[in-house]
Amino acid sequence: MKELAERMGSRKTAAVLAIQTTVLNSMLGFLYGRGFVQMMPVMLSTITDPLCHSVFDAGIEYCGQKLQLTKSMILHKQIAISSPHLEKIFILSPNVRLEKPECGVKGRYLIEFTQLDIEMRGAGKKEFMGLMEKMVRKTIGEVAHERKREIALLGRELRVPSSPFPVYESKEWRKKLGEEFEAELSKKESTPFWVMDHAREFYDREDEKERGYYHNYDLFYPEGFGEGLSGAERDFEYSVLKRKLVERGQKEEEFGAYMELAKGGHLSKSAGGGIGIERFVRYLCGLEHIREVSPFAKVPGDTFVV
Ligand code: AMP
Ligand code: MG
Repeated sequence: MKELAERMGSRKTAAVLAIQTTVLNSMLGFLYGRGFVQMMPVMLSTITDPLCHSVFDAGIEYCGQKLQLTKSMILHKQIAISSPHLEKIFILSPNVRLEKPECGVKGRYLIEFTQLDIEMRGAGKKEFMGLMEKMVRKTIGEVAHERKREIALLGRELRVPSSPFPVYESKEWRKKLGEEFEAELSKKESTPFWVMDHAREFYDREDEKERGYYHNYDLFYPEGFGEGLSGAERDFEYSVLKRKLVERGQKEEEFGAYMELAKGGHLSKSAGGGIGIERFVRYLCGLEHIREVSPFAKVPGDTFVV
């Protein structure tokens, strides 16, 4: 309890929370100013993101139905953006992912965190990545300008990175630097950068001709802070989604209404992504561990007092 009381009483905690407030104000203002529609988060659902790494089950039983805590709202975003009356949406979305305890030491993982999760109907990767660069640069600029005192208290220096951010193709850089190429690049770079083409969940668009090339992108922070945003152009046609589920050994029934809608031709072309708030704040504040972002942070493997 002493540790919690100390953390709540420290100037550093207050400085980080002030910076986080500016981050949220800046990013939400950016999206509102561009005509995005905000949806409220879904926290329990019959369907959620299957993820491409294994986590412990976070399901509950309610009135005879199995509901899952949201791992991400990707499936809901794809359903919502298929409305002909919605073009650009976002959700400030709490996610619960019961990550394996060994993730706790990496400094980047929590078991509950918040994504600013965005989707644009008809968009492609260039448009979405360009928009994210503008949003990230604006937010860094506003934090540097409006939170000078807090940034100084944390002993941090912030500069607005220039645009466009460098782009790395994963196959090429894996060959050059090995499996840990992303971590290596993150340590070496002095600006945020993109890594393209990751083999992962079934809803990220795979090239129709060049199978095994994925039209997805991750934004990485420099100075070793690692991945901060993942996104993609989406696959939406039933036959393609079905094939990819089979390839991944996943069952169509697990994605109930989503796959039913795909079958009826109701999903649309879109692109989007989710930026993790705590990881962005950790990077901006230059914090050693993501636990320092929130006094109530839940790090995988920890014993929780609140
Ligand atoms: P994903 O699409 O799974 O990469 O999640 C989108 C973003 O959410 C990531 O790029 C991170 O910024 C953030 N994120 C994902 N998992 C975690 C986690 N366990 N703890 C904190 N942030 C996370
Ligand atoms: Mg990711």
